[in-house]
Amino acid sequence: MLFNVFSALALGVMVRASPAPAPLSDLEALTGRATPLAQVITKCTVPNTVALTFDDGPEEYIYNISRQLIAAGAKGTFFWNGYNYGCIYDEINVKRVKFAYAQGHMVASHTWDHKDLTKLTFDEIHDEFYRVELAFERLLGVKPAFLRPPYGNYNNLVRQVAAQRGQKLVTWDFDSGDSTGSTPAQSDAAYDALIKRHPSNILALNHEVYKNTAEIVLPHAIKELKKAGYKLVTVAECVGLRPYQSITFPKNMMNSVPTLGRLPNGKCARDAASSQSALILSTVQSPSVPAETLREIFMYCMAGNTGDLNPTNDPLALRRVSTTWRDIIDSMPCLWSTITITPSQILPQNVQAIKEWLGRSGTTFFLDISIHAPPDFPNLDLLAAILTEFMPTCRRWKNLTLCVPTELLPMLLSNPDAPLPALESLKLAMDHQPQFTIDSSATCLRSISLLALYP
Ligand SMILES: [Zn+2]
Repeated sequence: MLFNVFSALALGVMVRASPAPAPLSDLEALTGRATPLAQVITKCTVPNTVALTFDDGPEEYIYNISRQLIAAGAKGTFFWNGYNYGCIYDEINVKRVKFAYAQGHMVASHTWDHKDLTKLTFDEIHDEFYRVELAFERLLGVKPAFLRPPYGNYNNLVRQVAAQRGQKLVTWDFDSGDSTGSTPAQSDAAYDALIKRHPSNILALNHEVYKNTAEIVLPHAIKELKKAGYKLVTVAECVGLRPYQSITFPKNMMNSVPTLGRLPNGKCARDAASSQSALILSTVQSPSVPAETLREIFMYCMAGNTGDLNPTNDPLALRRVSTTWRDIIDSMPCLWSTITITPSQILPQNVQAIKEWLGRSGTTFFLDISIHAPPDFPNLDLLAAILTEFMPTCRRWKNLTLCVPTELLPMLLSNPDAPLPALESLKLAMDHQPQFTIDSSATCLRSISLLALYP
């Protein structure tokens, strides 16, 4: 399914915020449009069900926990972090992740590294969600539909981000106390008291990372809950919803799993920002885009208005943006949705200007970006420097239009740590058959438009 981005370019509408800077947390004020809030699930709804949930993994006790659940005819729900006790891409954790999923347990997100989401900015919250989604899609091929905010903490900004990413927030209505100092005996007693009250259903918080939980509390809880007649199900089942936004094949095309997530410096993939180039060169081996696909895209693009992208065409929208370029950068926090960079603006001083502008986190998002440079643009280093400034903001991109020398495209398209996650469309202008491959992790990229220039 291809999405026409020509209209986005042709319109080139720039929206400015009111003179007083809006609070960064108030997206509604910034956008002028209502922002939906994600549903927060605080309890199960299906009668007679219990959802046993396990946070903070993947960890070694998952095997024991799973074995007990399966033996009891039960399924559990695991809320995993990307980088908490360990890196989710480590071989040992990849095994745990794949094992639990294969056993039929529900897997869900607990954010990348277990921060209190209420202390983060809009972009940072997106990042916490996105990196776990990416890991799930790489390792399992599923897109999670539920996220448990660390400490159960959330606010409207967190709910807005969750809604944008198609996820529901999950808390709990019973805490075994295993992460807050309860002894196994106390946890057992808490389960006993709960079961004695016999609520219609239970959404129970446990942690995957404690030996006592796996070896002492869980056997007791399973036995008593079963005796009381409860059905032990996943969170999705206990609220009658689907566990995942989508299920496909794992996106991990790489043969060597550890190199997928561990950078040359040994850090987990989320810290890749400063090592992007090295990572691309050393580890990415994605399959090429089939010629048929390229041809299809080409035909689609030719059917559109190819004049839009011709730099010499100089449509009105481009002039409007370019004449206010400095004004926009120099102004205080502003909201605008379109940035267009023309050859005359590819200047050393603008690299710093772009950096400063994009650095105002929270003031810009959902960008339509167009960068135009002729195929023979003489200063590739300068162009690369400009693209580099944009890379860390990729989670805020909506449309990206590039008319740049082909050599620069792998930088954007095959970068596993900036995989165009929020991008709805990508439009490329190529001067010849592209040599790049699109990284398989570009999971949220819903369409690509390729405009091939005349030979
Ligand atoms: Zn936690």
